[in-house]
Amino acid sequence: MNKPVITVIGSINMDLVTVATRFPNQGETILGERFLTTPGGKGANQAVAAARLGADVRMIGAVGEDAFGRELLRSLQSEGISVDGVKPVTHQHTGIASITISEQDNRIIVVPGANHALPPEDLDKYESVIAQSDVCLLQLEIPIPVIERAVSLAHRRGVRVIVNPAPAQPLPPSVLEQVDFLTPNEHERTWLFAGMDERTLVNKLIVTEGAKGVRIWQDGQEQLIPGFRVPVVDTTGAGDTFNGALAVALAEGKPLAEACRFANAAAALSVTKLGAQAGMPTREDVESLLA
Ligand code: ATP
Repeated sequence: MNKPVITVIGSINMDLVTVATRFPNQGETILGERFLTTPGGKGANQAVAAARLGADVRMIGAVGEDAFGRELLRSLQSEGISVDGVKPVTHQHTGIASITISEQDNRIIVVPGANHALPPEDLDKYESVIAQSDVCLLQLEIPIPVIERAVSLAHRRGVRVIVNPAPAQPLPPSVLEQVDFLTPNEHERTWLFAGMDERTLVNKLIVTEGAKGVRIWQDGQEQLIPGFRVPVVDTTGAGDTFNGALAVALAEGKPLAEACRFANAAAALSVTKLGAQAGMPTREDVESLLA
């Protein structure tokens, strides 16, 4: 079977993770316990999820011309992902997420940097890449005008588009109209439809509901595709694994319910391991859970 081709248009970040017993008070400096850097960004995470599951993945995005940017490109390439569409920009640093983890809570600041430096017109250069894809996958960590342009290009070229509306923010009507699938979690779902009639989009909706699984609507019928019961170690990246896997399954031509079951299995495996990209399963792992 030919590999399914997936284009991911989205963010590429370095996660800077500090672990401390508590957060400092205002004006206070404390000593932390541990520090690590790890590749992240919803775009890159979903690209890695899809590549591990056997897709031919092409990434479109931007990094800075700095050490993090070079390291992130190498890391994507080591997963077999094409980075020809990732633009190194000189006037912005690579996107970062500063993550502090204490025993009680997490606090995260994302600085988009280069992720916000890709002009929408640049996407026209990648029209043929988009047109050759079975599925285009996007998230909301890049500017909305870039998303609008990408969705419109893919739609015009007859390529199926999945938008994972995370982090939650309103989407322009053209995106809602042209997208094939929207994959909010329960919290993002309420944001997405603030002030509008959800029924107009119901056939496009795939709502992830954590351990419960995922809710879909087909021909007026609501259906819950149950999640897999697994020992939970770290749920970071569950949503990203779900989206990458869903894109692979739909690109392979699986019907929606079966594609969601495949994505539930991949996402469930991801929560059994520590880390976002580090915890993402291979095709064999998913096939054996499904068997
Ligand atoms: P995150 O932000 O943690 O990456 P999310 O909030 O975007 O995730 P969720 O709805 O929590 O998305 O989870 C996405 C999918 O991951 C679920 O639909 C399910 O398939 C799987 N999943 C999440 N948590 C669990 C769990 N505890 N056990 C099994 N599967 C899970």
